[in-house]
Amino acid sequence: MPLHRKAKPEADAIVRALLDWFAQAARNLPWRRTRDPYAIWVSEIMLQQTQVKTVIAYWERWMRELPTIQALAEAATERIHKLWEGLGYYTRVRNMQKAAQQIMAGHGGDFPKDYEAILELPGIGRYTAGAIASIAFNEPKAILDGNVIRVLTRLFGIAENPREKETNERLWRLSGELVEMAARFSPEEKGARTRTMGDEERCSHLNQALMELGALVCTPKQPKCLVCPLRSRCIAERTGKVEELPNLGPRMMTTSRRFVAFIMEKDGRFLVRQRPAGVVNAHLWEFPNIELTRANDGSNVARAARKVFGAGVKAAERLCVIKHTITRYRITTDAYRTVATRTAKLSDSAGEWRTLAQLHRLAFPSAQRRILRHISSKAGKEP
Ligand code: SF4
Repeated sequence: MPLHRKAKPEADAIVRALLDWFAQAARNLPWRRTRDPYAIWVSEIMLQQTQVKTVIAYWERWMRELPTIQALAEAATERIHKLWEGLGYYTRVRNMQKAAQQIMAGHGGDFPKDYEAILELPGIGRYTAGAIASIAFNEPKAILDGNVIRVLTRLFGIAENPREKETNERLWRLSGELVEMAARFSPEEKGARTRTMGDEERCSHLNQALMELGALVCTPKQPKCLVCPLRSRCIAERTGKVEELPNLGPRMMTTSRRFVAFIMEKDGRFLVRQRPAGVVNAHLWEFPNIELTRANDGSNVARAARKVFGAGVKAAERLCVIKHTITRYRITTDAYRTVATRTAKLSDSAGEWRTLAQLHRLAFPSAQRRILRHISSKAGKEP
């Protein structure tokens, strides 16, 4: 359902209601107090897969430590990993650094204003480019993420799966038509509260209103339709289909996986290793570990220890069990204190020996970080 001329008054009203609502309901988030494209870019990448309340502290620390594109371009990889530690999906932060280096080399250190140029930067897809172009530069560019998909499918009563190409493109078009309409508003067309809004903010605010409505009102469960500014125009609400939309198809089956991690200590130092390039959580640090599978005769921890270290090592005592979920995997990691016999000779490839204080300066994936926290609290040395 493109917003044809016939539907224009309806779309006008939607845009007006969104701008009006955003003017009085928007959360006061730190990245909303700036138009610096770098700061907005950092927030958008952090907000992928992570909730706002978690991101605030990360974003503030990041902007304190790496306040400019140049600072990011020149930072050591270990430092950016450490600043990102806990946010996961570390390819994102490495791509940010590559993009910063590209901006330094190709744009004189200034974040590009042109949408196509933004889209060419590593790690920046259509959503992020649209978010930066609209929020920082007030360009009428579309955005479409999970929140916006939910709002639009419900508002326009779209029953098809938004992951399907055709429906997805339709949603991008709708999102684009709304932001373009915001750009065309004349002052007298604005709602009561938006009348004072400068022209340079309307595209920015319209897109943020869509995101904010999805985050605060049109939520996945128990949306607050009674207080929604779009209620009178919402097809899903009118037809009783709110709970059914968006139609994301059958749920992905979750798979359980089990790992065992080995905590080996010698003279106050712990054995850790750095994950190689090209694997999940590449370059991050971890305690030696292995997945228990049928193929490697899972559930036998002693055998797993031999597989990781060779002979002469045994898992002695279970220290903690860490459970976490990543995408469709429910992962359990049993961490064992591990001891080497007197004759055991660990090869250099087994890892490196670091003190607790040194470990806390390294970047670990979140489950491994929780193991480290457990060891530290047992030793009474939580930093
Ligand atoms: S009325 Fe309900 S379903 Fe419709 S957009 Fe608002 S919160 Fe979402």
